[in-house]
Amino acid sequence: MTVRWPNGARCVAAFTVDFDGTGNEVGQGLEPVGIRSAGGYSARRGIPRMLDIFERHGIPATFFVPGYDAEQNPDTVRAIIDAGHEIGAHGYLHESFDLELDEEERLLRRSHDILTDLAGTSPVGWRSPGGKKSSRTLAVLQELGYVYDSSDKDYDQPYPAIVETRKSTEMVELPNNTSSLDDAPLYVNGGVTPREMLELWKAEFDSIYNDSGYFMLTFHPRAGFGSGIPSRARVIDRLLAYIKSFPDVHFTRVDELARWCLEPENGHMNHSTWIGGRA
Ligand SMILES: [Zn+2]
Repeated sequence: MTVRWPNGARCVAAFTVDFDGTGNEVGQGLEPVGIRSAGGYSARRGIPRMLDIFERHGIPATFFVPGYDAEQNPDTVRAIIDAGHEIGAHGYLHESFDLELDEEERLLRRSHDILTDLAGTSPVGWRSPGGKKSSRTLAVLQELGYVYDSSDKDYDQPYPAIVETRKSTEMVELPNNTSSLDDAPLYVNGGVTPREMLELWKAEFDSIYNDSGYFMLTFHPRAGFGSGIPSRARVIDRLLAYIKSFPDVHFTRVDELARWCLEPENGHMNHSTWIGGRA
């Protein structure tokens, strides 16, 4: 399979931020106070700090925002948009649990409307909260005009999204690696220090730069499992500086990358690779 990246780049780099505010706790029926208040850090400290870092480096990013967190923090959503970043959808109350299909569709549409009203334009990308999807999820999103999903773990390149058992020509899957290219599992389960994290992500980038050229990294701005606090935000700052030192890297918002991948001549929608047994 031969694929092309924008501007003839050797590697694309997409930085994504999963807002994960107090809705994570509220969605589980928990009051976001005391030990359960870490989600409040996202809007108050983590996101402003990340916006500052992205601005200093001149790098665009994509923020996946649950509808509830957008309702609670409209000024934060506007600040993200005003800085030139993308807003994608990320559930309503971060539903990382199974839902009835009707209820799922209702919440997808509700979050879509909230984000559209706040942003003035509709989101075109979605990332599942906690990786949960149903057989109907992408069909609903495609109907709403979404052009990409960034939730699956079964590949390390863009590929045609599977919508109701068929390869879509209108929606691309931009998989996210939630093992080694996501802050939460490494800081929480891996117990890595910020210094170790920087070395791990540098090594991940080196390998991808020399291999497939698709580098997508996920941060969370909350306290606790995220990268919002100063020592961990500094890892982002240093990593961006490191990646910028390489030639032929194209920094991209995910929506722009998705639209590029959907153009047949760029090769991403044409390959016949096995896709979860469904191709
Ligand atoms: Zn999340």
